[in-house]
Amino acid sequence: MIAASLKNATRTYGAGATAVSALHEASVDIVANRFTVLRGPSGSGKTTMLNLFGGIDRATSGKVAVAGQELETLRGRALSDFRARHIGFVFQSFNLIPVLSAYENVEYPLTLLAGSKAKRRDEILALLDAVGVARHARRLPGELSGGQQQRVAIARALITRPVLVLADEPTANLDSETGAQIIGLMRRMQRERATSFVFSSHDPQLVASADDVVDIRDGRIVSVKRVAPSEVLQ
Ligand code: ADP
Ligand code: MG
Repeated sequence: MIAASLKNATRTYGAGATAVSALHEASVDIVANRFTVLRGPSGSGKTTMLNLFGGIDRATSGKVAVAGQELETLRGRALSDFRARHIGFVFQSFNLIPVLSAYENVEYPLTLLAGSKAKRRDEILALLDAVGVARHARRLPGELSGGQQQRVAIARALITRPVLVLADEPTANLDSETGAQIIGLMRRMQRERATSFVFSSHDPQLVASADDVVDIRDGRIVSVKRVAPSEVLQ
């Protein structure tokens, strides 16, 4: 199964002589239930590609699909609903809401969807436990370390059971030991929750743990290496 795909996706900023192609005619399939890394130097187009998959930005031309849905056909409320239901986000700087507790941060995406509050509570507590911060449920982000904040952010990304989790350099603001723990956690959560993770990184530890590695240079995909075997590809 394919979790997400780009077909000849181009994203150009500006126009005329000063136009920059952040992404140029990129085509790739993100295989479902795998751990995929976008690798490339700074400015190569990694964030641009993640923003297209996340429906945060639109391709200038070409197609972007997530779970079989072409994102360019969705607008406004339909796009934000699709995103809330099917896509989770993890950021380099964690981006937790500072005035909400760890518990409330994880609850937040669910408030956009229907569902009973009691059932939610059990799921939130179970997930905080699974990512190793159950004891900090009542703390504010400012009372947590960077690694703990990223654990909460991972729980927030997973609470809606998304088909796709997008993470833009998720270990870039962490020391290497904490980064390694966060990678291990994401890897475990990807398997346990049977979801698809796509990261951008140049962290060799993260790249080494990937199933698939997409190499990007100057806005172009230069190779897609399927490191781990997959039934889908045979
Ligand atoms: P990466 O995440 O790999 O560092 P980006 O996707 O952020 O790369 O950027 C790819 C290219 O697009 C870079 O040359 C960058 O300067 C350019 N770019 C990104 N966002 C914008 C923007 N909003 N306006 C103009 N150029 C941009
Ligand atoms: Mg970037």
